[in-house]
Amino acid sequence: MSNAQPRLVLATHNQGKVRELRELLRGQVQGLDVDTQVVDAAAVGGPDVVEDGVSFAENSLLKARAVSAATGLVAIADDSGLAVDVLGGAPGIFSARWAGRHGDDQANLELLLAQLSDVRDEHRGAAFVCAAALVAPAEDGGDPYEHVEYGELRGTLLRAPRGAGGFGYDPILLPEGLDRSCAELSREEKNAISHRGQAFRALLPAIVSALS
Ligand code: IMP
Repeated sequence: MSNAQPRLVLATHNQGKVRELRELLRGQVQGLDVDTQVVDAAAVGGPDVVEDGVSFAENSLLKARAVSAATGLVAIADDSGLAVDVLGGAPGIFSARWAGRHGDDQANLELLLAQLSDVRDEHRGAAFVCAAALVAPAEDGGDPYEHVEYGELRGTLLRAPRGAGGFGYDPILLPEGLDRSCAELSREEKNAISHRGQAFRALLPAIVSALS
């Protein structure tokens, strides 16, 4: 059992995201024990944050700022969603509550499919988009350090759900160049191409430098 102090907080309650971040960081920062020192916000009493920003970047920064300020630690947060071309980027930041109730994946997906029922195949382009933010506490009385990176997974929206894996809109997004929906990919396959994986990987140098 290690009694190592947490050094990096991911502002989420989603253990899958914490696991993904730990795998990304394993072996990257000298002296960092990812299994004990990379934790979720609940583990360090981080606050619940109202996501009232109007962009993925703003929401990810709101969460990372609040958790870093409350804990005095380096904090990371992500915010993501589905941006549909023909809807001008909607549902976007409203992806989790598109049908009116937060987190009702099935209702969100059904409403979107109904809205797009008359849209021809060539106009069904969409992308999962993610902003990942890092906030590090101020040094020497200066301002906190803030950095945001992005990731995008482009594809086409199917007319009916396919596959049993994943979550959210996974069953209706066919990634570019693949013949399986996101819900038909293994977790490893999805992580390798996902918007979140890309954003976290792009943030890696900032994480390494904030912890070194
Ligand atoms: P969050 O940023 O993880 O809270 O995601 C917000 C919402 O965007 C989720 O509730 C999903 O509806 C949608 N979403 C984000 N990422 C994905 C994904 O990888 N697959 C499917 N849906 C996603």
